[in-house]
Formats: sequence, structure tokens, C-alpha cells
Amino acid sequence: MSSDNPLLSRTGLPAFDAIKPEHIEPAVTAILKECAEHLATAEAAELGHWDSVMTPLANIDLLFEYGWSPVNHLLGVGNSDELRKAHEAMLPQIVNFSLELKQSKPLYERFCALRDSADWKNMSSAQHRILTQAILSAEQAGIALEGPERQRFNEIAQSLSQIASDFSNNVLDETKAWHLDITAKEDAQGLPVSFRNMAAAAWSEAEENKDAAPATPQDGPWRVKLDAPSFGPFMEHGTNRDLREQAYRAYVTRASSGDKDNTPLIDQLLKLRQEKCTLLGYENFAALSLSRKMAADAAAVQKMSDDLLAASFEGGKKELQEVTALANENGHVGDLAHWDVAFWAERLREQRYAFTDEELRPYFSLERVLDGLYSLCHRLFGITVKSADEKAKVWHKDVRYCEVFNEQGQHIAGFFLDPYSRPENKRGGAWMNDCIGRAVTATETRLPVAHLICNGTPPVGGTPSLMTFREVETLFHEFGHGLQHMLTTVDLRDVAGISGVEWDAVELPSQFMENWCYHRPTLLGMAIHHETGEVLPDELFEKICKARTYRAASTLLRQLQFGMTDMTLHSTFDPNGAESVFDAHAKIAEKTSPLPPLPENRFLCAFSHIFAGGYAAGYYSYKWAEVLSADAFSAFEEAGLDDEAAVAATGRKFRDTVLSEGGSRHPMDIYRDFRGREPNTDALLRHSGLASAS
Ligand code: ZN
Repeated sequence: MSSDNPLLSRTGLPAFDAIKPEHIEPAVTAILKECAEHLATAEAAELGHWDSVMTPLANIDLLFEYGWSPVNHLLGVGNSDELRKAHEAMLPQIVNFSLELKQSKPLYERFCALRDSADWKNMSSAQHRILTQAILSAEQAGIALEGPERQRFNEIAQSLSQIASDFSNNVLDETKAWHLDITAKEDAQGLPVSFRNMAAAAWSEAEENKDAAPATPQDGPWRVKLDAPSFGPFMEHGTNRDLREQAYRAYVTRASSGDKDNTPLIDQLLKLRQEKCTLLGYENFAALSLSRKMAADAAAVQKMSDDLLAASFEGGKKELQEVTALANENGHVGDLAHWDVAFWAERLREQRYAFTDEELRPYFSLERVLDGLYSLCHRLFGITVKSADEKAKVWHKDVRYCEVFNEQGQHIAGFFLDPYSRPENKRGGAWMNDCIGRAVTATETRLPVAHLICNGTPPVGGTPSLMTFREVETLFHEFGHGLQHMLTTVDLRDVAGISGVEWDAVELPSQFMENWCYHRPTLLGMAIHHETGEVLPDELFEKICKARTYRAASTLLRQLQFGMTDMTLHSTFDPNGAESVFDAHAKIAEKTSPLPPLPENRFLCAFSHIFAGGYAAGYYSYKWAEVLSADAFSAFEEAGLDDEAAVAATGRKFRDTVLSEGGSRHPMDIYRDFRGREPNTDALLRHSGLASAS
């Protein structure tokens, strides 16, 4: 085997600087050939013998880890036409192999044999989890079905994926199809510069305007569109009420009529999902979804929603009254309509807590923030981060490599940090990904390595990289995911770190870390003006904290409305019954919104999360994770945030449970070990300023 192909390496860190597009085809071809042999070995393994089945599967993981993951990674951080072509050329073969692996009946039989063997009781909880998850995922892919049932199951799967893709295309088409042109300068008053730039460009780029003189940000015309970056700021800043009304009505009726109407697709989708669940032996789609989540059942989700709803409904009414009062003081007569709320809420926010990103940036230089983050992790988890650039080969000169050491000084993990934006070839946003997963076998130990990717402003001249507050939060968030990956002590890769963690639990460490950005000593310890050395003024810190809870009840109610509608449609709602999905939504909206939706509201027709994405009977996960992370943070509050010893003790407990055990046990069991009880909504409500006075 050619040893000069970096994708064929099996040890150490991937040589990112040496990977070229031309390496992909030969490496993937070789890897897939080897993988097929490992799969055949696993499929022929002796029944009831762990190593014979699992060792070949671990070999497959390893080949993918070194031969394919780096390619995906480079697509995100160093894209090029050649790389994309080489990736696309091999993708179908990779997908085929993954399907073969997932749908292998001999493997499924071997997993079941292990579960039913006398050895089961001697296996670790990590082994139990691996087998249970593998069996469940095979069964939910229809592997246990035979004959006509199997055939029907496959037909349903085909239709479901077609409907989801049609649904999402209709939403995209309808979002694109609508626009509103602002031509009068007085109607553009108050629109922010960034919006004017975008809206003028949108007008000029339109086919029908290509022969006209281009629009300018100062003089227009400006084109308003229904995608979030355009619609959101327009509703908050557009001073012409009639125009706001037009945009709002278009927005809430997208894909609800004509040949792009999603209504029949929703009906079909819900019926097919129900039929699929019946074939698999589940009562409904919610039961299927929750079978692989942390939340025990629909009742547990309902309880969370009820608790949050009870605590926020009055607050939501009050928030609406405050906004209405401000509007009335400024000439608006009577109640607010839907197209007024965002506008006046934004005016109230400006009046009360406004600060700009630019005001805060000078206080958040990347180096100080990283120092603050690492020293927090040292206080909480006893770990030390040391720069180790010389040990890694990177894909860009700005990328750093660090090693992580535990309290005993042992090297336990590493991470790449790619901090700056490179619009020419790097994807936007921030993310954490695994580079190497922890795996310990009789012959070798591989330490976990994470990728931490941000898109900050690069340093210019003498000015360091300066961050917005949101970017600081995001860095803490991603580092939280990274900590769960890096501080794992699980030896079996499939359930080490974030692998195998239920997805309603996976945002716990990340959102938990965000909380520290609102902890005064932690934040002020790193918010130091890069020129003057001055610490962030108290007044700005207070504004940051208040902005966090501004209109918290209204935001919460909106999320609850989405989550409860999702759960209802996938549990108690009868897709073959007389009630329409819109009636079902309206009933929930009535309970959850101080300002009930317009009767013609068809927001469901654009609810891609649950009809075209992976969030069906799972939308609640957003809140679930927030409840968990706030409740986890409150353990530190109870111990005393200013008591270093107590914080350290609680931090070690968090490390030794949530961060260390990862996917190796059920997340509720792990959480109970950390917190001494199950999570509740108190802390989230308190942090949101919604705790009752009693
Ligand atoms: Zn996250």
C-alpha cells in the first residue's frame, strides 16, 4: 500500500498539510476494499462472541476516521473546486457502504445473539449501550420485517423522503418567489445600514432590473425578501406599517396555496409516519422518536412544557402590554397587530438595554478570552491546556494545536483551533467536530482530538482579533462540546465522548459552558480593553445580563407553541380524523400566545424542522437541553459561585459524570449521579427572570 498517501495513515494526527485532492480516489478505493473485508469477517463471526464481531467493526471506524473524515473536515475549512469534485466522486460509494453496514442482517443477528448470550451479564454498561443502540437502529430501519411488511416499509421510506424533499423545496421556492420593493425614501427611514446594503443589492441583482441603474444603499430601491436575514430586520425596523403587514402576511402563508401548497404533503406525511410506526410496533411517531432520546416519554415532555407554560404565560401578556404601552406613547392607537410587535419590541430594547457589538468588541480579544476559558476549565475540571503547535500539521497557518493534561499531568486529549474567518474557502458559523475518537484496546490507546472552528475577525496590523459577545458565547458553547469529546474516559469509541449521546442531551455541556459568560468574575476576568487595559464597565455588564432576559417569556412561549404542536401532531392527533392540522395548531396557539395567530396563519406549511428536517417529535429538545444546562449550572450556584473549593468540587463531579461517561450510560442515570436528582425547570425560569415571586 502506498505510504505517501496521508489518507492511508492509521496513527497519530492526520497530516492535514499534505492531503491533496488527488489522494482521495486511491485512498477511498483502498479503504473501501479493506472495509468490505472487515464487514465480511464481522458478518461471519462466531455467534455470541464480542471481539469477533466488534473488532472488525472498530477497524472500519478507524479506516473512516483517517481516510474519510479529514476530507469532510477540509471541505469545511479549506474548500476548493478540486477537493469538492474528488469528494463528490467518491461519495456514492461511501454512502452505499454505510447503507450496507446499517442494513446488514447477519450483523443484526450477531448483535442480538450477544444480547441474548450468557455473557450479557458480564458486559459493561458501555457494551450494553452499544448493542442496544445498534439493535434499535437496525430495527427502526425495518431490518426485522419480512415479506409484504418489509416491502411496504421500504415504499413508505421512499415516499417519506420524497415528501420531505418536496416540502422543503416548496418552502424555498415560495420564500424566494415573494418580494416587496421599497421605493419611497421615507419608507426606508430607520432601516439599518447592513439591511440597506443587502436590500439594495437584492434589488439590483433581480433579473428584471438588470438593465436599470443599480440601486444604492442610500437612495434605493430596496428589496425586502422573506428569508430570515431580510425579513427579520425589516419587521424590526421598517417604519411603514402597511408594508410590514404585507410582508408579515406573506411570511405566515408561505407554501399554503396554489401548486406549492404543502397542506396535502403534511397530511400524507403524518399518515405515512403513523403507518410506519404501526409496522414497527410503536403506538405513534412520538413513541418512536422518544425511544432513542433522554426524555422518557411524551408525558415527560408534556410535563416540562406545562411547567414552562404555567410560569411564562402571564409574563408574556405583561411583555406584550409593555410593548403596546410604548407604541401608544409614540402615536400608535389601540392594540398591536402581529406586524407591530417586533417593531415596537425593538424600540423598547433600544431604549432599555441597547449596546452595540462594536462597543463590546475592544474588550474581547481572542487571546484574553481563550486565557479566560482555559483558566475556567482549569478551575472547574482541573485540566491544563498547553500550546503544542509543533506537534501537528495544519491546513492553514492560523490554525493552532493544543494539548490537554489532567490533574496528574497526564496528556489526555488534544484539539485544533481554527479561529478566523476565511470567506474564500471556509464555511461560516462555528462548530466542534471530532478528529480522533478515544479508543483503548489491548494493543493501543488513541487519545481524543477535537476540531474547534470559529469565524472570528483576523488580527489586522497591531489590532488583535476582537470578538462580539455572541462570538464569545459561541466559543464557550463549542468548547463545551469539545470538553465532552476530550474528557471522556470511555474506552469504546462508539459510546466515548459525544458518540452515542441522545440528541436531546447532547447540548448539555455546550449550553452549560455558555452560562459562565454571565458569571461576573469569569467574564470580567477576560473582558479587558485591548488598548487601555480597562475592565469592562459594570454598566455594560449589567446590560449584557438584562439583554439575556429581555422578552424571555415571549420567546419561551413561541418555542413552546412550536414544540407542543410538533408533539401533538405526532402523538394524540389522528391524521385520519376530522380535525385539520391547522385546527390542532390553533388550539395550542390559543393556550400559548398572548396574541393569538391570525385565522389564516399557515405557519405549519413552512415548518421545515419537523416536516423536512430531523426534528419530528423532537422540537422540544431545544428546551429540554436548556432546562438541563440551567439546572446543571444551578448546582454550582447552590454550592456557591464565589467559593472556589465548592466550585472545584462541583466541577470535578460534572467532569466525572457528564463529561467523562458520555454515551456509555443512559443520560438520565448519568445526570442523576451528577445532580443527585432529576432535572427540573426552576433554574431555567430563574435565569430567564420568570421565577414566581413565591
Ligand atoms: Zn451545540
